[in-house]
Amino acid sequence: MQTEFDLIIIGAGCAGLSLGLQLASLQAKAPRTLLLEPRTSYENDRTWCFWGDEHAPFAQLAKHTWQRFSVNNGVSRALVDCSTTPYRLLTAADFYTKAVRMIASNPAMDLKTGISLTAEPSLSQGRWHLDTTGGSFSANAVVDTRPLPTQKLSDTTLWQSFLGCELEFQEPRFDPASAQLMDFYPASQAFVGFNYVLPVSTTRALVEFTVFASKIYDQAELVSYLDAQVEKLADGRPYQRLRNEYGLIPMGVGKPKGTVKPKDTVKPTEQHSSYVRVGLTAGAARPATGYAFQRIQRWALACKQSLQKNGLPVGHQPDSFVIRQMDAIFLNVLRHHPELGPELFMRLFSKVSSEKLIRFLSDQGRVSDYLAVILSLPPGLFMKSAYQVAAAR
Ligand SMILES: Cc1cc2nc3c(=O)[nH]c(=O)nc-3n(C[C@H](O)[C@H](O)[C@H](O)COP(=O)(O)OP(=O)(O)OC[C@H]3O[C@@H](n4cnc5c(N)ncnc54)[C@H](O)[C@@H]3O)c2cc1C
Repeated sequence: MQTEFDLIIIGAGCAGLSLGLQLASLQAKAPRTLLLEPRTSYENDRTWCFWGDEHAPFAQLAKHTWQRFSVNNGVSRALVDCSTTPYRLLTAADFYTKAVRMIASNPAMDLKTGISLTAEPSLSQGRWHLDTTGGSFSANAVVDTRPLPTQKLSDTTLWQSFLGCELEFQEPRFDPASAQLMDFYPASQAFVGFNYVLPVSTTRALVEFTVFASKIYDQAELVSYLDAQVEKLADGRPYQRLRNEYGLIPMGVGKPKGTVKPKDTVKPTEQHSSYVRVGLTAGAARPATGYAFQRIQRWALACKQSLQKNGLPVGHQPDSFVIRQMDAIFLNVLRHHPELGPELFMRLFSKVSSEKLIRFLSDQGRVSDYLAVILSLPPGLFMKSAYQVAAAR
């Protein structure tokens, strides 16, 4: 069994497999790479949605694409045309199948499932050593995609918690040409809540109830909200629940508390250029939205290029100063005034042109897009929040 590698990737979920795919595409030039994953098999455990034209990574593997979507707060409704950058749905099953197959096709790559670390990685004589339930391995560099436990993310501004299910009706019930991105729950002091309906056919849809709140909502706390939305949608018609999914995404992650460090008596990990932490709890998610899939794809490409250049991995690039400030100000408003959330989102979706808004939401924003977003929101509230964000620094 091979035990020495150029690179070890800890965790083969979205980030680990995305980098694995990029490296596998180098064919004979791929670094010797080991991917370590504790799960024994891949299930269809989530759905990734993103905006992207036909050139966006994984656009061609998407199961469904919408050219328009709606946002609704019970009083008004905005119908948004997104045909230039459609909204796409990729199933985790399709992504995992493709990634596992591509990685297996390159002899330099080794994906080991059902393997857990038995100790934190340690550094000795310039190489990282990992003890696992499947043996000991070493490498020049490590990409660590393990999610940090939530207690280490206590500075997170807001948590996005959601519970969803896939429904199949016997009779046509949906318009598969239009997604419902946000159907707001009545304004609340506790959270910004909304329902999300993604129809992939006239009879089948993914329905999710989502909350943005300063606390985490676990699955049990979201069940009654989701069930109420499902019953409202069904309106007495028979349906079958095919699959459930629960997600928790930190929005605006502060500096992790007491980050788990690999065993190394010399320096903490952050100071080793050969060890990077990535993924959802290490900067992958856009703070204001929680969207991470396309950001992970951009990181995977940049990481491959860096490994090719100098053998060293890179983490997620920090967002630009403008994006960080705008996201922090917006999240701060939602944290302190969740009851205003439905109105603020409605303003965004009804006052800003869809092209500008989607560019802004998917990190492709231009100066004029930022201006349009700022001008659509109530100036007094945002000035106050900007002051609070600046004072907290
Ligand atoms: C249900 C759900 C739906 C989402 N939908 C969207 C969406 O529509 N659009 C979007 O942009 N983003 C979405 N996200 C956010 C983000 O894209 C995903 O969370 C994405 O999977 C993050 O990738 P990751 O590699 O950081 O984490 P994961 O994909 O969760 O991978 C982490 C890997 O680490 C492994 N691991 C865990 N503990 C250990 C350990 N101790 N040792 C070794 N390995 C370990 C896990 O088994 C897993 O394979 C969603 C998230 C969830 C949970």
